[in-house]
Amino acid sequence: MNNEKKARKRVAEYCRRLYEKGFMPGIDGNVSVRVDSDTAIVTPAGLSKETITPGDLVCMKLTGEVISGSRQPSSETPMHLAAYRLRHDIGAVIHAHSPNATAFALCGKHIDTRYAPFAYMHLGVIGDVPYDAPGTPEFHQSVTAAVKKGYNVIMFKNHGAMVLGANLPDAYAKTDLLEAYAGMLLKAELLGGASVLSDKQLEKIVHG
Ligand SMILES: [Zn+2]
Repeated sequence: MNNEKKARKRVAEYCRRLYEKGFMPGIDGNVSVRVDSDTAIVTPAGLSKETITPGDLVCMKLTGEVISGSRQPSSETPMHLAAYRLRHDIGAVIHAHSPNATAFALCGKHIDTRYAPFAYMHLGVIGDVPYDAPGTPEFHQSVTAAVKKGYNVIMFKNHGAMVLGANLPDAYAKTDLLEAYAGMLLKAELLGGASVLSDKQLEKIVHG
């Protein structure tokens, strides 16, 4: 199986997992994976991730030109392609509307990872992008600026999350953790609110 074929199969598998976890309700969310230095596979517009097949996916040049696939690429494709062009460490991108994390975005509340060592270690500091209509050049510009700053998890105000990973399992694990962690913070609020780790404690997580 060639690289493109393998990548199509993997993306379709992860789309189903993301849908089944409730991270991409309806026809929302998008997934992409880098195939090589100048090519990526992206999900098409308007299809539920529950039933997407390898043949539904679109293979594109990082410059935006479609190489193969008969469907229209997602309108959010430019932010995926920009991530691969700008960051050579990125091999997969997931944009999800998972309920707990998106609840923070809807309220314009920053998800602070300084409450738990695992969140701080695996998600890093989370970037925030102001609201703009999805798919517009202004929106993609703000997202691209956050990607350039090196964030691996970026929240879109009133919208959802974008997770950048070294590969699909990595991007998936971060998406899963982000959602679980946002749920933990919501529960912690009921118990009186989580207590933040000190700078010294955070330093020790990163440097031992
Ligand atoms: Zn979205």
